[in-house]
Amino acid sequence: MNFKNLNLINPIIRAVTEAGYSKPTEIQEIAIPHILEGKDIIGCAKTGSGKTAAFAMPILQLLKRHTPEHKEIRTLILTPTRELAMQIEEDLGIYSKYLPLSQLSIYEGISTGSLLAALRKRVDILVATPGKLLELDNQRHIDLSKIEILVLDEADKMFDLGLVNDIKKILKQTPQKRQALFFSGTMPISLKKFAETTLNNPVNITINPGA
Ligand code: ADP
Ligand code: MG
Repeated sequence: MNFKNLNLINPIIRAVTEAGYSKPTEIQEIAIPHILEGKDIIGCAKTGSGKTAAFAMPILQLLKRHTPEHKEIRTLILTPTRELAMQIEEDLGIYSKYLPLSQLSIYEGISTGSLLAALRKRVDILVATPGKLLELDNQRHIDLSKIEILVLDEADKMFDLGLVNDIKKILKQTPQKRQALFFSGTMPISLKKFAETTLNNPVNITINPGA
């Protein structure tokens, strides 16, 4: 299996190849075709298995299909911590090197003023920690009504950190008709239940290291 078999487009394959990826990891191999088809996903695979690229590569491809007139945010990626947000920001920069898509990351420690300036420009992909997003949102600075794709990254960790109510508040502002992707290292029952009520007919993907 290689990236070409997954029907990924050349600008993405070229970028990941230059980053040293020679073939997809297991979670990427299984999740990417479903995401490209527009399905909701619950992807469970251990830390280090390549979950970021499993959602980032197909999202970049889906966003490239059309360019809406509006400049509201099209993809929201929620992740538990500042460090993880910074890592996703860096990875997205690598994977989208040859694509004309813009991203913005908001997390604790960035000044609200500089974020407000950035939000006035086009943002295709917003990476955010729930806390910082709500802080800006409370001041009505962020419009999530045009979100096409929503990602919960490291969902189990967000639950552990008690961010579930923040997440619910944020999801309420996104359209009903959106593609939602949950990725997690583990699948505790609380998260499973939340996914069942939030996702639309999701494809369940669990990568078992020993299997
Ligand atoms: P997870 O979120 O599952 O913990 P990450 O998405 O952070 O894992 O990926 C772990 C590491 O693997 C990162 O350094 C990333 O650059 C690398 N990686 C991801 N996909 C591939 C691939 N297909 N080939 C080689 N390395 C990869
Ligand atoms: Mg991860």
